[in-house]
Amino acid sequence: MKLEYYLLDMPLIVPFKTSFGTDVNRKPLIFRLEHNGIVSYSESVTDQDPFYSYEDNDTALHVIKRYLAQNIKDVPDPEEFLTRSSNIKGHNMAKAALEMLLYDYRAREMGKPLHEFLGDSRGYANVGISIGMDDINKMIKRIDDALKLKYKRIKVKIMKGEELKIVSAIRDVYPDINLSVDANSDYTEKDFELLKKLDKFNLVYIEQPLYHDDLIYHARLAREISTPICLDESITSPEKAQKAFDIGACSVINIKPGRVSGLTNSLKIARIARENNGHVWIGGMLETGVGRSYNIAMASNKLIDYPGDTSPNSKYYIRDIVKNPYNMEDGIIKDYNGAGNGIEIDEELINKYAVERGVIF
Ligand SMILES: [Mg+2]
Repeated sequence: MKLEYYLLDMPLIVPFKTSFGTDVNRKPLIFRLEHNGIVSYSESVTDQDPFYSYEDNDTALHVIKRYLAQNIKDVPDPEEFLTRSSNIKGHNMAKAALEMLLYDYRAREMGKPLHEFLGDSRGYANVGISIGMDDINKMIKRIDDALKLKYKRIKVKIMKGEELKIVSAIRDVYPDINLSVDANSDYTEKDFELLKKLDKFNLVYIEQPLYHDDLIYHARLAREISTPICLDESITSPEKAQKAFDIGACSVINIKPGRVSGLTNSLKIARIARENNGHVWIGGMLETGVGRSYNIAMASNKLIDYPGDTSPNSKYYIRDIVKNPYNMEDGIIKDYNGAGNGIEIDEELINKYAVERGVIF
């Protein structure tokens, strides 16, 4: 049995600007498990900096090497792995990287595609696009291109002071499209009057307007605005999702499997949303084709009722590290039919992009 990691350095096609800053390259952290003739790959969705959450590539690697890796040596059920690892507070992205390896291993062992192994698959994911902030004419052009490709919803990044300009310019050109905005926590409880001004634009939701770990102020905001609130950063576990619905902090959740310790909790959160008449979709973190394969399998689950941020990777990377990247047709991505996550790894390219590697056990 062998567990290895690769830290890659991959250039992005278009720099991705959010309220956190601008990414021009990404450093994916990839894991490879080999056991009983089965090879599984997974990806930690951490980045090189702790801007989206407190986790980054270094913390994930540290927690995995020192604490989590020992918990997968007998290849337990994914849920059992999470139970064993519950003494480690937080570090969900690190946990997810190993939990997903276990899902892939189990599915491959049974010879089943991952989306079927997870159950209730529709066989494809409905796909939306997330567009970073830029010159407004460039943003409109990107929306135009996305609509021609039949993306099922458009989401644009906003930041404080830019929101009305961006949204009104888009609505002038496209009064009726399925449009949402993502604020990545750029507002505070002092900005409710400003956020209320977005109500007239008929947005499907505003994503994570307030503090990254907040529920209380989001519940307060939800009572004052008519635009539905979607939570992303704040929802780190099924318990937090339940609390958010209990106090009315959101009606939509962006589930990023990496943020919630993996697929076990993603399914639990989707069930909680269904029980509370909420909506869910699957988000992305600019994953390579490795991480993306888990997101697409999850997004194909029938509990996921809104289009997700699961664009094909040709939008982000010059070349992907899988040989069979997804293609989108008519706004959907079909699941792979091969066993497990179904990816065919390009080992040559992994070696080319690797800036660091190591054997964990
Ligand atoms: Mg978001």
